[in-house]
Amino acid sequence: MAGDVLVLGSANMDLVVRSSRIPQPGETLLGGTFSTHPGGKGANQATALGRLGSPVRFLGRVGADDFGRELIDQLASSGVDVSTALTDHALASGIAMIVVAADGQNSIVVAPGANGAVSPAQVLATLEERMPKVALAQLEVPLDAIEAMAEALSPETVFILNPAPAAPLSDSLLSRVDILTPNETEAEALTGILPIDDETCRAAALRLLGRDVKAVVITLGGRGCWLQDAEGGHLIPAFRVNPVDTTAAGDAFNGGLAWRVFLGDSLAEACRWASAVGALATTREGAQEAMPTREEVEAFLTQ
Ligand code: ADP
Repeated sequence: MAGDVLVLGSANMDLVVRSSRIPQPGETLLGGTFSTHPGGKGANQATALGRLGSPVRFLGRVGADDFGRELIDQLASSGVDVSTALTDHALASGIAMIVVAADGQNSIVVAPGANGAVSPAQVLATLEERMPKVALAQLEVPLDAIEAMAEALSPETVFILNPAPAAPLSDSLLSRVDILTPNETEAEALTGILPIDDETCRAAALRLLGRDVKAVVITLGGRGCWLQDAEGGHLIPAFRVNPVDTTAAGDAFNGGLAWRVFLGDSLAEACRWASAVGALATTREGAQEAMPTREEVEAFLTQ
């Protein structure tokens, strides 16, 4: 398809054990139930786009194992084109080992596995095959692959970078970013300013615009998001919902944003839709399972 959304990022299987508490070093605890959930920021955001009905390709890497097959099947069943996802025969699929305690605290260890082998060569081969209209990336795959994408994108492609988890970014990468979408913690890590009110949101966003990013959207959880571009900055309040699980709200938001930018919305309008997608995702348990469909978002916005 001429022009689509290309999501460069990670796919992980989340392995979740419920436990009365987090074990001490050296301690073995008898835990509760065990469950597996497809995750990874890249796969979550691609799933959000697929469920919203956007044309979307997933550019990533999994291992030649059961988790890898399940991760790819899950993406495909959400309507994601997985022809640009590679199977790595040397590395295992990425996993996140998660212990959730009765009081809601968790401890997480991620083994990136095949995600760590996403390479500039894989990115360049995908872009050569077909240039996307919108490209969306996060920071759970190697930075050199993201930098290669930034350099090779056509000037017409809108590049959205969700700088999660927080990491230092070069000026050359930031100068190719059309829309940067940090949450509060990531905005603080990038600018040294924690965005707690209008004044600090504006200051953090302006610092990023000063590094040649074209527009910044700082997501602020239940408070909403702060949009800043060349025309100025303002808060877009969150929709009021009863959240049951805020996991992957940011992934839902980024997927929703990329979808509406793909459809040609103004950035303010795209943020409104993205906020609705993020809000709806908090009303359900899980990550990929919680992503709303286009019909659900439309019904929510007209109610
Ligand atoms: P992250 O998961 O990356 O930390 P946020 O928590 O900032 O991201 O959430 C992303 C977006 O999802 C917010 O900007 C908001 O639009 C929406 N959202 C998150 N939490 C809530 C909530 N409790 N109520 C309504 N909307 C929410």
